[in-house]
Amino acid sequence: MINSTLFTGGRILDPHSATLVDGLSVLVEGDRIKAVGADVEAPADAREIALGGRTLMPGLIDCHVHVGAWSLDLWGNMVVPGSLAALRAASVMEEALGRGFTTLRDLGGADAGLARAVEDGLIDGPRLIVCGKGLTVTGGHSDLRTRSDNRPGLLSDRVGSMGLIVDGVDNVRAACRTMIKEGAKFIKVMANGGVSSPNDPIHSIQYSRDEIAAMVEEADNAGFYVAAHLYTDRAIERCVELGVRSLEHCNLITAETAQKAADRGCISIPTLVAYEALALEGEALGLGASEFAKIETVRQGGLASLEIMRDAGLKMAFGSDLLGELRKYHCMEFEILARVLTPAEIIRSATVVGAELCQMDGEIGIVAAGASADLLVIDGNPLDDITLLGGDGAHMDMIMARGRMHKRSI
Ligand code: ZN
Ligand code: ZN
Repeated sequence: MINSTLFTGGRILDPHSATLVDGLSVLVEGDRIKAVGADVEAPADAREIALGGRTLMPGLIDCHVHVGAWSLDLWGNMVVPGSLAALRAASVMEEALGRGFTTLRDLGGADAGLARAVEDGLIDGPRLIVCGKGLTVTGGHSDLRTRSDNRPGLLSDRVGSMGLIVDGVDNVRAACRTMIKEGAKFIKVMANGGVSSPNDPIHSIQYSRDEIAAMVEEADNAGFYVAAHLYTDRAIERCVELGVRSLEHCNLITAETAQKAADRGCISIPTLVAYEALALEGEALGLGASEFAKIETVRQGGLASLEIMRDAGLKMAFGSDLLGELRKYHCMEFEILARVLTPAEIIRSATVVGAELCQMDGEIGIVAAGASADLLVIDGNPLDDITLLGGDGAHMDMIMARGRMHKRSI
């Protein structure tokens, strides 16, 4: 087995400065980047990969996925055997790696077992950062029960289940502690109405201030943070004030709140492709009129929100949030972002900003000594042409995750 790889003759993409640097070699040993420099000494048995002027860049980070949401039939995902749900999640993860995503942050569903399976080499997939289940109030965004369905919960012990219904400060604290005990690296809360849930309009505010403050305290005590599902400005402002760090979606944010969030060091995760995909395919997939109306509300706010957040200096991490069959639109997020953001801004969102949100600054999202060997070889310069990161990996001549070769055509 080859343990060392020396990359020569490439142009190394630095996301911070948004430049390509010539004349450097990169040595990978095991799962780490060992050295980056002009004169790198490689072991005699190292394999050399001559890049011939291609771009060598860090693997991409998607900060909002649900790898357990195999199908758009969210109840169907829950009731299948756990073994099947886990294998389905593995295939979703492998698919994402084939698009160049070497790290995924799961916002509800995946458990630490899936993350461990990647570390142990059982799944040829991206690194997975999990939160356990998304916390929802009774009748909130993850409560999928219809009005007359009074079954007690959401089969929340299943891999294919995305949420946990929990109400009250003490119960919320216990739920956070359980998630963290089971391997969560952050806490997810549904703090606002949603599209795919039956009983909560977009404008509904979910959880009391006390409950969210308790989550923030529990997460912070463990060295983690809270990520909140949010659309409306009122919901976002409230969560920013309560110390929530990760602001998911943010479609209807105002400039004032974006400024406040930026000042507090928050990171937002726009997921615009989720609404484009639902608008494109929702009818065929059986969505009803009320869901469609909700989709339009958040879809129309989406592009404006990018401009508002960029102008406020609010950091943005790349996210997709595609469920089930809609995952085929994953790379469309690059095109949507490109209507407002520059390639450099988009690349930063999918590398260094994502790394910060995963609390893995310097370890992922960067080509540097000591970082994880998550590397892509791109035929061209994505700083000039962001579509090179799309096309389901079509322009990627190599995808390496944690030193393991996933794809190589050079
Ligand atoms: Zn959400
Ligand atoms: Zn989501």
